[in-house]
Amino acid sequence: MIDRLADQTALITGAASGIGRAIAIRFAEEGANVVVADIREEPREGGRPTHEVVADAEFVETDVSDVDAMRDAVEETVSAFGGLDVLVNNAGIFPGSRPIEAVEEAEYDRVMDVNLKSAYFGSKFAAGEMREQGEGGAIVNISSIAGLVGYDDAASYCASKGAVANLSRELALELGPDDIRVNAINPGVVETAMTTQDTPAAGTMDEQIPLHRDGQPEDIAGAALFLASDDAAYVTGHNLVVDGGYTAK
Ligand code: NAD
Repeated sequence: MIDRLADQTALITGAASGIGRAIAIRFAEEGANVVVADIREEPREGGRPTHEVVADAEFVETDVSDVDAMRDAVEETVSAFGGLDVLVNNAGIFPGSRPIEAVEEAEYDRVMDVNLKSAYFGSKFAAGEMREQGEGGAIVNISSIAGLVGYDDAASYCASKGAVANLSRELALELGPDDIRVNAINPGVVETAMTTQDTPAAGTMDEQIPLHRDGQPEDIAGAALFLASDDAAYVTGHNLVVDGGYTAK
C-alpha cells in the first residue's frame, strides 16, 4: 500500500457489489474515504456490506436514476468527509439480451436512466462541488466494451454505454480548465452477479479472449485507481479498455 489516494474522498455508485465494491475496497486500501451509494447494502454476490469491510466508509441509500438522490449523495459525501475529490459512476444494469423489436419503452427508459442519466447528473453535481473546492478532481465513468463495439441483442445497453463513453470525452473538455479529469473504463466480461446471475456470460467467451479468462472486479479496480490518482494527472477524455484483449481483434 502506498496511499495513492491519501486524504481523498471518493463517492462510488453501485459499490455494494461487484466492480464498484472492488473499487471501494481498493480505494480504501490506498487511503481514501469512501462513500458507497447503492440501492442495496448487501453485495449481490454475498458477503458483508462494503461499508462494513472497509475503514472510513459511509453508505448512502441512493437510486442513481433519481436526480435528487444523486444530488443528495454528493451533498452527504461532503457533509460526511468535508469534500469530494473522486466520483466513480459505476452503478449500471444489463436488461438481458433481446432483439430491439422485443424491447418496450419502459425497459429502454430504465436502462438509460440507470446507466446514463446517473452519470450525467452525478457528474454535474460532483463538478459543481469540485469547482467550488478549487482543487481539481477526477471522475471515472464505467462504460463497457459494449460502448465501443456492438454486443448482440443489447441495443439499449450499447446505446447507454456508448453515450457514457462520449459523455466522458465531452466533460473532459468542459472541466479540464478546472483540473477536473474525466475518463471512462470499458470493461470486457467481468465475473460479477451481472454476468453470473442476470445474464450468464461469464466463462462463455474465454476462447475469444486473448488472455483466456474473464476479468475479475479487481482488474477493473486497478484501472480505476490509476485514473483516479495523480499517476493519471495528464490523462483526461480517455476510454481505457480493460477486456483481456477481446476488442484487439
Ligand atoms: P453488479 O450487478 O454486480 O453490481 C451493480 C451494483 O449497482 C449493485 O450493487 C446494484 O445494487 C447497483 N445498482 C443497480 N441499479 C442501481 C440504481 N438504480 N441505483 C443505485 N445502485 C444501483 O454489476 P457489475 O458487473 O459490478 O457492474 C458494474 C458496472 O460495470 C455497470 O455499470 C456495468 O454495466 C459495468 N460493466 C460490467 C461488465 C461485466 O461484465 N460485469 C462489463 C462491462 C461493464
